[in-house]
Amino acid sequence: VKQNPSEPEFHQAVKEVLESLRVVIEANEEEYKKNALLERLVNPERQLKFRVPWVDDNGQVQVNTGYRVQFNSAIGPYKGGLRFHPSVNVGIIKFLGFEQIFKNSLTGLAIGGGKGGSDFDPKGKSDREIMAFCQSFMTELFKYIGADTDVPAGDIGVGGREIGFLYGQYKRIKGLSEGVLTGKALSYGGSLARTEATGYGLLYFTDAMLKANDIDIKGKTIAVSGAGNVAIYAIEKAQQLGGNPVTCSDSTGWIYDPEGIDVELLKEVKEVKRARLTEYAEARPSAEYHEGKGVWSVKCDIALPCATQNELLLDDAKQLVANGVVAVAEGANMPTSIEATEYLQDNDVLFGPGKASNAGGVATSALEMAQNSQRFSWDFDKVDKRLKVIMENIFANVDEAAKTYGFEKNYVVGANIAGFEKVVDAMNAQGIV
Ligand code: NDP
Repeated sequence: VKQNPSEPEFHQAVKEVLESLRVVIEANEEEYKKNALLERLVNPERQLKFRVPWVDDNGQVQVNTGYRVQFNSAIGPYKGGLRFHPSVNVGIIKFLGFEQIFKNSLTGLAIGGGKGGSDFDPKGKSDREIMAFCQSFMTELFKYIGADTDVPAGDIGVGGREIGFLYGQYKRIKGLSEGVLTGKALSYGGSLARTEATGYGLLYFTDAMLKANDIDIKGKTIAVSGAGNVAIYAIEKAQQLGGNPVTCSDSTGWIYDPEGIDVELLKEVKEVKRARLTEYAEARPSAEYHEGKGVWSVKCDIALPCATQNELLLDDAKQLVANGVVAVAEGANMPTSIEATEYLQDNDVLFGPGKASNAGGVATSALEMAQNSQRFSWDFDKVDKRLKVIMENIFANVDEAAKTYGFEKNYVVGANIAGFEKVVDAMNAQGIV
């Protein structure tokens, strides 16, 4: 805290991970102290902060701040998304990068942890303004990334359009067609099923967690927050598995649709028109629209927070438990506060932590990297099947680690231990670096 003041989200992420690793840390205390393992783990290998000047449609020069935190490359090239949102600062990027280390480790694929972004707000900007910003951002970032060093992807505010502009600028400067970014469109090296991967993966993980506890997802009422990439495909896969998702939200309001979310309409409103959820409510007679926050007040069996960090707090957890929720699985990164997580677990709610349950996106990004290296594309079914197997393996490893250390059904501890052990192993094998 002293070394990195004003980074509350980063402190929260480190505290959550290290506290749940207590049993492993205590067992290896001397060794970890001697080689400063934990100090090295919480300090990024490299932290970049840069100016991003661009010109808006009125001819006015705007200046934003860009970030890339290359946190840990013990397992492979840095991998993690770029977030464009006004709330972005170095602490947010560090919390995301730190989580990414363990998430990427859990996928079983050769990827290290990193994260980046900017306080740029894409909302309300023209396509030309988005392009101008992305080109300026990449004009600095290109020096530090590459297909075998650091491979960014999308996150909040960075979807296919932004990845396209970023990739175009990288190629123009470097003169190199390589898999330097993932989440690309299919026409220039993207992977089928990457768009769906985080949401679908969340449901594959949730289904595995429910099955291991003899619960069938069929017929279950599901509350989902968010209405972006993760939320949309979580809703779609939940319906395919026989569940009934009845809510979604954006930063201004939320929808309750007791007949079940119309996912095609949601895609039309959010992906095509880039409009607000009020348009969904206008087109759908069964839907209620409410201003502000409120999805967790809806009675549900399963809750899937898929919007942003700290969006499910202690009071929300109390409300969910009072309404009989049986499982919560995180689609977003750190959407549940530490107190809310503990309350849910204390009340026997199955809890899937994001670093395990939302790892499908980055796992499929790694499959995109593999396809780019092969200069070959796999069909949708092949990628989707690999994703399903990866998510089921993640659940099995998390479950196993929890059991091994005497924390049965505590998937938070299980995920942290399983992710941590592989990173530590790789760090130790490579000496003091
Ligand atoms: P999108 O930008 O596609 O969607 C984000 C959604 O969350 C939007 O509906 C947005 O509403 C809402 N939202 C964002 N910030 C806030 C806020 N401060 N308060 C309330 N609502 C908010 O992002 P993604 O779906 O890609 O990402 C969602 C979460 O999932 C993030 O935590 C991300 O880190 C995580 N994640 C994403 C992965 C991916 O592959 N995309 C992979 C793993 C994790 P509005 O449009 O009004 O801003």
